[in-house]
Amino acid sequence: MERQIRQLHVFFLPLLAHGHLIPTVDMAKLFADRGVKTTIITTPLNASSFSNTIQRFQESGIDIGVKILKFPAVEVGLPEGFESLGMMFSSREGVKWELNDKFHQAIAMLQQPFEQLLQECKPDCLVADWFIPWATDAADKFGIPRLVFHGTSFIALCAMECMRQYEPHKKVQSGSESFVVPNLPGDIELPKNQLPEYSKQDVEIGNFTKLLKAAGEAELKSYGVIVNSFYELEATYADYYRNVIGKKAWHIGPVSLCNRENIDKAERGNKSAIDEHECLKWLDSKQPDSVLYISFGTLNIFSSAQLKEIAVGLEASELQFIWVVSKQNNNDEDEDWLPGGFEKRMEGKGLVIRGWAPQVLILDHEAVGGFMTHCGWNSTLEGVCGGVPMVTWPQQADQFYNEKLMTQVLKIGVSVGTQKWVKREAIEKAVKEIMNGERAEEMRNTARALAQAAKKAVEKGGSSYSDLDALIEELISCCHQNMDTQKAI
Ligand code: UDP
Repeated sequence: MERQIRQLHVFFLPLLAHGHLIPTVDMAKLFADRGVKTTIITTPLNASSFSNTIQRFQESGIDIGVKILKFPAVEVGLPEGFESLGMMFSSREGVKWELNDKFHQAIAMLQQPFEQLLQECKPDCLVADWFIPWATDAADKFGIPRLVFHGTSFIALCAMECMRQYEPHKKVQSGSESFVVPNLPGDIELPKNQLPEYSKQDVEIGNFTKLLKAAGEAELKSYGVIVNSFYELEATYADYYRNVIGKKAWHIGPVSLCNRENIDKAERGNKSAIDEHECLKWLDSKQPDSVLYISFGTLNIFSSAQLKEIAVGLEASELQFIWVVSKQNNNDEDEDWLPGGFEKRMEGKGLVIRGWAPQVLILDHEAVGGFMTHCGWNSTLEGVCGGVPMVTWPQQADQFYNEKLMTQVLKIGVSVGTQKWVKREAIEKAVKEIMNGERAEEMRNTARALAQAAKKAVEKGGSSYSDLDALIEELISCCHQNMDTQKAI
């Protein structure tokens, strides 16, 4: 008997943070491009950050929808409108962990209204962020598979698993003492003080440690993992993740490459603080590979003194640059993070963007020849797609592992150093090294080859394209099995 062919419907439930939401919107688009009906579930403020993008997709006939759940911020004691993880980072007060607890408590409260949506819409699969452990139970209740999205690299996923299994950091005493991550290919070595507090496991940070445990357990019960990476970039670690750690995983990235039009690149994730045309005009006036792009993502906070040190280092390098200083870093009204007269002296040479920058648009421009980054995985991959060498300046979490991939494994990155405080001289030296130092050309050639490989991976027949096809096929057959079982009952 002919099976009834029905369109596959996938629900996407991202963590409420730019670094997770942005690739999720791209992922939903990728699935929808293959004829899958996709729905992103988020909260009002987050939805507004990508509503233009969704509208454009819908107008071009892509089957992508958004369902909004009210975020119970006030109910858990958070300020009204506190709907994004980045809001707990503030240059004045540092990271406020008690807000983190409340934030995740509010996310936990979304389970019931979310299940209501599952009841109403009856999707066939749920792709949910790793940080939302209850998603596995919710999917189970409705008999659908739950896929996990971590939002990081294969190398970081592997390293974190090795760290969990072997706990090498417990055998070293001081924070500055280094250890090699056991069993991980590539002799990846890092000092204890580069591990996040919560992963040291001898430190409990509120309920966060419990949440991480629950997330790990939920992952074990889930259907598999989606990774925003491509095989050719980190084949050793992709193989290790699947064959040694034994995870069922599909790599479908770099997902940012689904944004082909300038407007999609410019509006990705938020409204830019600079006009797209003005930004392009500025870049168009520069020679190829002559501009350094500097950005540290959405969650990092630098002291005013460190920002000033960056400014002095940049000025001393005599390079042309675009420097993004995010909202949480520039909320000091007196702007004491810039040396006196800096912008006047840099006129025409350096551009400071205060707030949100159209990052992918900038990195894809031929004038950009280097990227100073905090090694957040999205930024790192976007740098790879832009074909540029990087100065790596990781701050937390998986960023230290991503740095190793860039510097030690692929050799397209130069580390700014491992100290907490980075001096102007180190900044100047590192940026000069990737822009026009002895190894600059070699690094740029490798970076360009990787950018080509990235584009190939997402084209028809490429490794990521094929893996997404395989995943969709499997989900369709899973869905048919479910239908058959239901009929039999
Ligand atoms: N981003 C952007 N403009 C900005 C800051 C960030 O477009 O001014 C985007 C960036 O392109 C990336 C994401 O926000 O896709 C940040 O994610 P990442 O993993 O790099 O870092 P996180 O902010 O999560 O630490």
